[in-house]
Amino acid sequence: MSRQVDMALMSAHEYRRRLAEPKTVLLLPVGAMEQHGAHLPIGTDWMMAQFIARRVAARIDGIVAAPITYAAKSGVRTGGGNFQSGTTSLDGITLITMVKDIVKELVRHGARRLTIIDGHFENRFFLDEACDLAMRELRMDGIDDARVLKMVYAAEFPNPLIDAVYTDHEFPGLDLEHGGLLETSMMLYCYPEFVQMERLGNESAARFPPYDLFPPRTEWVPASGVLSSGLSATPEKGRLLVECFVNQVADAINAEF
Ligand code: ZN
Ligand code: MN
Repeated sequence: MSRQVDMALMSAHEYRRRLAEPKTVLLLPVGAMEQHGAHLPIGTDWMMAQFIARRVAARIDGIVAAPITYAAKSGVRTGGGNFQSGTTSLDGITLITMVKDIVKELVRHGARRLTIIDGHFENRFFLDEACDLAMRELRMDGIDDARVLKMVYAAEFPNPLIDAVYTDHEFPGLDLEHGGLLETSMMLYCYPEFVQMERLGNESAARFPPYDLFPPRTEWVPASGVLSSGLSATPEKGRLLVECFVNQVADAINAEF
């Protein structure tokens, strides 16, 4: 049986012992609080990032830090937009500062191999900036042996997996996979008690012009809040997706650490 993976459930003494083991990898899930239509929870992005991180940690005897739940604003064309009720976001500068502070604290206490698992598309450049600033400031403090591996959990989508999952419609692209087949299948597999398939309509994929407007044109976004159909989601498809992404993250960690 694997050991406890959640930092929040460990005593500080156990955490200190585990961090002192030279090969320990610390995983930090980052998600969002973002509407995901009528059928998925607002916490979907951080819940999935945390689920993947826990699976990986169990495999590599790592530790999962408490997830970052509130994060970057939702893009209209990638998440339905920040104007949606339930989508509760931080200003970019707040997210950068928060992630930078957390990374520096984890390193200060002994973590040297960190992995950030990103479950929300819009976080990416803010997380890059946070990691860059954390490394710079840690160097100024005389710590130069900490490294961060940052990865969107759905980084690569192999064609056989796309074929196995998109049996009823074409893969719309990851941009439009907001509350769609990918997230719905994964949530059905990981957290079936929080998925309400009966509330899902038969949405075709949203279509957006190739630009953004500020303030956003809210009528661009389908009334459901999802950007493509999750109607053919199954727990089995979710299992295939989760296992693929867990393997990708574990492979990346094994390659770099
Ligand atoms: Zn999402
Ligand atoms: Mn998202």
